[in-house]
Amino acid sequence: MAGSLPTLTHYIGGEWISGGDRYPVENPSDLDNPVLEYSRGDAAQVDLAVTAARAAFPEWSSWVPRERAQALDVAGQEIMARSEELGVLLSMEEGKTRAEGIGEVRRAGEIFRYFASRLLDAEGELLAGFQPGVTVEVRRKPRGVVGIITPWNFPAAIPAWKIAPALAYGNTVVFKPAELVPGTAWSIVEILSRTGIPAGTVNMVLGSGSEVGNALVEHPDVDAISFTGSTSIGRTIAVAAASRLAPVQLELGGKNSLVVLDDADLDRAVANAVNGAYYSTGQRCTASSRLLVTAGVHDEFVDRLAEAIRSVRTGPSLDPAVQVGPVVDARQLASVQGYLEVGRAEGATELIAGEMIEAPTRGHFLSPALFVDTAAGMRINTEEIFGPVATVTKVADYDEALAQVNDSRYGLVAGIMTGSLRLANHFKANAQVGMTMINMPTAGMDYHAPFGGTKDSGYGPREQGSYAREFYTEVVSAYVRS
Ligand code: NAP
Ligand code: MG
Repeated sequence: MAGSLPTLTHYIGGEWISGGDRYPVENPSDLDNPVLEYSRGDAAQVDLAVTAARAAFPEWSSWVPRERAQALDVAGQEIMARSEELGVLLSMEEGKTRAEGIGEVRRAGEIFRYFASRLLDAEGELLAGFQPGVTVEVRRKPRGVVGIITPWNFPAAIPAWKIAPALAYGNTVVFKPAELVPGTAWSIVEILSRTGIPAGTVNMVLGSGSEVGNALVEHPDVDAISFTGSTSIGRTIAVAAASRLAPVQLELGGKNSLVVLDDADLDRAVANAVNGAYYSTGQRCTASSRLLVTAGVHDEFVDRLAEAIRSVRTGPSLDPAVQVGPVVDARQLASVQGYLEVGRAEGATELIAGEMIEAPTRGHFLSPALFVDTAAGMRINTEEIFGPVATVTKVADYDEALAQVNDSRYGLVAGIMTGSLRLANHFKANAQVGMTMINMPTAGMDYHAPFGGTKDSGYGPREQGSYAREFYTEVVSAYVRS
């Protein structure tokens, strides 16, 4: 079977290049039928790709904005037009549901179109100089060759929100997608390859993080690195980049809380909790797996949440009745199951057990789990689980909830459910996170707004919206005497 699968190859200098051994791309909903195969590259391919990106930079960066915008817009339109086909591919290789896969691909297309329009905006400033007749011109220039490294959990959206602004502002790109999900990445690059952009403007090397990712980070001719992934890998990338003074942007892990106060709209609180904890199988950096609930509403909230969770269907990603797809791979499954053991050992009550679900196909189907009676210091409340597992902690009041939100090494996002404008305002100002959500789920941010976290959740300039240019451009000034 595997022998007849199409093999994805690297894209370097405008050519599709195979190189390295072939590996299957697994379908976590159907372990007996791989989705595709891909070539696993190495440092030699990275070097070729960086050289190609360097060579393409003068031409691409000199295209007038309108031409660059047209290329990105054409790519965005094709991605959107093919959202169903590519969304299904994404669901097959990553495991999120079909609706989630299609929605993500559509968003990726919209992101390309958004940055196509943004790059037409003026990006400079004119200042009057101190000396008579002198003007200071401030302008933004592309950084050069940008290295882009992405995780497996958003195979379309995260590559889009890095590649689109990188290209929009005139950089060339060497892209390394996560090994678990090369199919979606390949499709996006293939679409870009037919937009008429110069050979070498976008390059992609498939392969492992330790080999291809590391080679990209270490390459002396990569001018800037944008990475999304785990905090531990991010930290090593920051150190490597700092040693040669290359700018770096890191979007990292999270352990996000949703606070539910006594005056919350409980229907909405339950819906947001289910969404935040379990959608996309809990495999979102913005998942709110930690529910902090005040005493007056705690018992009723837990009852209603448990009822809602029991009606959630877990199974193969393409089954239209399924809301929670499989865990992405065996390693991640073992890690999540390990956390279920940790929670039991720490004395939390497993009100709803996370169990392996039988389905017509063999897959990593783990049903949503809920721990209650948990306490602040437990590992299940401090570490990122990245699976369909949530915890409930009873807190006395808002102040105790806020203290627990902030007692975390992470700071990506935090949510609060309340009717109190005063407490919502206090929360926005005092939660130590990059993003707060008021009466909203913690996941599902807009691409025209800044995205990113504080503490161990992020480092460097924010992504998305107009803020993306802070990383993808360099500010230079010119003093001009007329
Ligand atoms: P990961 O293990 O850190 O991997 C992320 C990417 O880095 C992958 O492409 C990986 O390659 C690559 N990589 C691994 N080792 C490397 C090295 N030594 N040098 C360079 N690159 C290397 O993270 P993941 O397991 O894919 O994703 C889950 C994590 O991402 C979670 O912690 C999640 O919270 C975080 N995340 C954060 C955000 C955010 O915006 N804050 C968004 C989504 C996910 P391979 O995997 O192909 O080997
Ligand atoms: Mg990993």
